[in-house]
Amino acid sequence: MLRHLDQCIEINAQRIIKTTAIFRLMSVPVLLPGEPEPVELIRGQRASRLLIHADHGGNTVPRNLNHLGIGADTLSRHVGWDIGAAAVSRHLAMRMDATAVIARYSRLIIDVNRALGDPEAIPQTSDGFAIPANVNMTAEQQADRVRTLYWPYHQSIDWELGLIREAGHLPAVLSVHSFTPALMSRDRVKPRPWHCGVMFSRDTRFGDHLIAEMRKVPGMIVGENEPYSGITHGYCAKVHGLSQSVPHAQIEIRQDLICTEAGQRWWADYLATIIPVILNKDDMNELRHY
Ligand SMILES: [Zn+2]
Repeated sequence: MLRHLDQCIEINAQRIIKTTAIFRLMSVPVLLPGEPEPVELIRGQRASRLLIHADHGGNTVPRNLNHLGIGADTLSRHVGWDIGAAAVSRHLAMRMDATAVIARYSRLIIDVNRALGDPEAIPQTSDGFAIPANVNMTAEQQADRVRTLYWPYHQSIDWELGLIREAGHLPAVLSVHSFTPALMSRDRVKPRPWHCGVMFSRDTRFGDHLIAEMRKVPGMIVGENEPYSGITHGYCAKVHGLSQSVPHAQIEIRQDLICTEAGQRWWADYLATIIPVILNKDDMNELRHY
């Protein structure tokens, strides 16, 4: 009886080894040699304490993921990335001699602005589009995306924040996003009215100052915690801003305003005029623990 049991255990162990080997054979690296690094980094001269990050800046998909099964056309739409956000971030970093950390790969592969374990981190649908490559993934395939694209982005932001601190400054963190004028699945009847939105959660100082400045522009409609709430959304702002006690905010600019280079430059130039004024305010120069 015992001998029979030993044989069964051995057979099962061999099966497990074989199955694992098959998964390993099926597992292909997320990035192939020669493909771009996951993070685009623009480094200022440390004259500025501003760190800009664009979580949804890129819509690149690694060759091995074959356009995620949805095609290049869909990836170029708002579901694939935040149109214009990377360009605004680059221009703003240049104007302010600041640091910008930009995610190069599409949020549909893994969304760096979501907690791991959130179903939207590797979404199976987005605004009505199905994403076949994200269905029935193995744990190993998901872990590969996390290792290759997710952690390097967050580590880059924290590393750069450390360099700003080393230079003797208190960092201020601005998350740059863009939003579609109307979500296909929700807003067709009532398009979103704002030109931009400012999001924050418990630490409101950077957000309050941005809203106050922007509402001085005649005709500009600025949403407060719109089109999304900084309380329920904004994982990066919480991890790299709120939990580090530094001033932080997330700005969302409507995509039709920054889909051209002229629009991108206008917004970057405009932000580069109001942010230095904001950074000089007393409450922006202290740690705040929540
Ligand atoms: Zn975004």
